[in-house]
Amino acid sequence: MSSFFETPIVYLKGVGPQRAALFNKDLNIFTFGDLIQHYPFRYEDRTKFYSIAELNEELPFVQLKGKIISKEIIGDGFKKRLVAQFSDGTGILELVWFQGINWVNEKVKPGIPYVTFGKPTRFGNKFSIAHAELEPQSDKNDKGGFLQPVYPLTEKLRTRHIDSKTISKLQQELLQLAKDKIRETLPSKIISQHQFISKTEAILNIHFPKGNEILNSAKQRLKFEELFFIQLRMLKLKLVRQEKFRGQIFNDASLLTEFYNNHLPFPLTDAQKRVVKEIYADLKKGQQMNRLLQGDVGSGKTIVAFICILIAVGSQAQCTLMAPTEILAQQHYKNLKQHADKMQIPIALLTGSTKKKQRTEIHEALQNGELKLLIGTHALLEEEVQFKNLGLAIIDEQHRFGVAQRSKLWKKNSQIYPHVLVMTATPIPRTLAMTLYGDLDISTIDQLPVGRKPIKTIHNYDAHRLKVNQFLRDQIATGRQIYIVYPLIEESEKLDLKHLMDGYESICRAFPDVAISILHGKMKPEAKDFEMARFAKGETKIMVATTVIEVGVDVPNASVMVIENAERFGLSQLHQLRGRVGRGAEQSYCILMSNYKLSAESKVRLETMVKTNNGFEIAETDLKLRGPGDLMGTQQSGVLDLLIADIAKDGELLKQARETAVEILNEDPDLLKPENQVIKTQIESMRKTTVNWSRIS
Ligand code: ADP
Ligand code: MG
Repeated sequence: MSSFFETPIVYLKGVGPQRAALFNKDLNIFTFGDLIQHYPFRYEDRTKFYSIAELNEELPFVQLKGKIISKEIIGDGFKKRLVAQFSDGTGILELVWFQGINWVNEKVKPGIPYVTFGKPTRFGNKFSIAHAELEPQSDKNDKGGFLQPVYPLTEKLRTRHIDSKTISKLQQELLQLAKDKIRETLPSKIISQHQFISKTEAILNIHFPKGNEILNSAKQRLKFEELFFIQLRMLKLKLVRQEKFRGQIFNDASLLTEFYNNHLPFPLTDAQKRVVKEIYADLKKGQQMNRLLQGDVGSGKTIVAFICILIAVGSQAQCTLMAPTEILAQQHYKNLKQHADKMQIPIALLTGSTKKKQRTEIHEALQNGELKLLIGTHALLEEEVQFKNLGLAIIDEQHRFGVAQRSKLWKKNSQIYPHVLVMTATPIPRTLAMTLYGDLDISTIDQLPVGRKPIKTIHNYDAHRLKVNQFLRDQIATGRQIYIVYPLIEESEKLDLKHLMDGYESICRAFPDVAISILHGKMKPEAKDFEMARFAKGETKIMVATTVIEVGVDVPNASVMVIENAERFGLSQLHQLRGRVGRGAEQSYCILMSNYKLSAESKVRLETMVKTNNGFEIAETDLKLRGPGDLMGTQQSGVLDLLIADIAKDGELLKQARETAVEILNEDPDLLKPENQVIKTQIESMRKTTVNWSRIS
């Protein structure tokens, strides 16, 4: 069924081929349906008219009726402006234009009735509005009683004279045609339960609200719906997996016991123990596990991963661990090898830079089942990598991998999907986790190993660099090591590298007698290895690096993290970087360097870092500051391309949406009941038009 809503936008009256192309390119609007879903992001209050006599400075935007009694262009140069005296019989208001003066001057005619709209400011005893909107009165605008929608636009559209009013007119045109064709998308039970307005009413009022109350109802209804269908999809995915995908049963704990009794390097924290239990319960259940393991940086996820590996290998299965970068894969390999060797578990590392010969050996050992544990990067996903019996796939730092890659790993086993454990180092706020990982079960390590001294975080301005350098010198003198991290600033890699190199040189000058390493993304793997190894062995004292060291790198003796231009980093990233220190017994420090000019948001970020070490708290703040779309790694996931709901602000609605989706699927997992047909129809239509839905088969 090719519906009315799939009609190309070019067929709408008022949209020619040129505008259609612009809409496609700039707003991602291709069809009638897309335009209808191009919702306003705010509204101007045109419900009432004010009189000039009642203006005061407290008022936001106001709307007035009156005539222009005189106008003149005054001043010159950048002070040149057009000033018009606007009167409504109760007083006089000045309308002022600094730009487009000639154009406005020509358009504005004294003596005819106008409606004007803008923000009044007081000068002496007179009010004035700069760049007011001015339209001749007509039966469309002289009654008030409505909220004027303001639509998202781009600069390009503006230069082509497409403004919010243009879009609004097109919406009006379209909704006239569409309003009898809009389908209800929620079952009537849900609608009455939540006292929602109908879909048609919601759509009409989101574009042309009669007042604030109905606008709110429209927003609630549309947000709920959006979140509801996402949750439904997630839960459905989970359900399908639980039903269809058997899991291998791993219930041999002999290796685990041996490791526990003889080789465990430290007692596990209670949180680690609890999480191991949760995972073990999954592994012996006979259903495929899909679990997210989240824990703050340094909370000890690696050892938990290894314990899970022992359970799987103990039951004769193979395991793999995939990391997002070469450095991190190597680090994991190094750490896990220590444990694996003690347990006589064959382990190998496979990355893009693994030599052909070694690669072939690995492929063979995987296929004949000798190799039990393979650590690697994306290289693991290649076709030639085939296991004899992959039982457990662990993915570290999930946010860098897409869902598609996750599913590629599942398919590494021909008979039965492997269990999947996803580890993330950035704690995720609950609401976000529900959306991003709503199809996974979640385990949380909410405790750091005992004896950790909380990292002291200090914010310093560039002007205090000498003081900071002295502090670094003192730390080196007591045997500690230091990271100094530079942000990626410029668009071009060349400039980034230059920035880093300049920093490196000035550090070399400031610490002439100290051995210094450098690490960045453009280096050859061997060179990176070499530098990393030198630093890890303590041969170099300072590591100057870009954010390549952000994830996973573990050098316990490094106890100071200096972050240059800290104002340029996101909050989660700062926290990740800070997590590189505080791993040993010594007091650790994180020094955030910035210049004096800080945006309000940067200030909050730096203050938050100084205030707390708690990754969950930081994640919450980050979500509030930036909104979910900008959070690390969420961009490519697509789940967060929300039209109207806002994960940061609509947590309560999200919870309700999830609960409702759970209820519906509990009662009617295949959506067969007649009252749920509207849901089914909607899913089908979304599957056709949105990428995310096509993933459910
Ligand atoms: P992350 O969760 O960030 O991946 P890691 O697994 O790298 O953390 O662990 C951080 C450090 O803490 C490592 O040096 C690890 O050996 C150590 N560690 C992990 N668990 C414990 C524990 N229970 N007691 C003491 N040290 C631990
Ligand atoms: Mg880690």
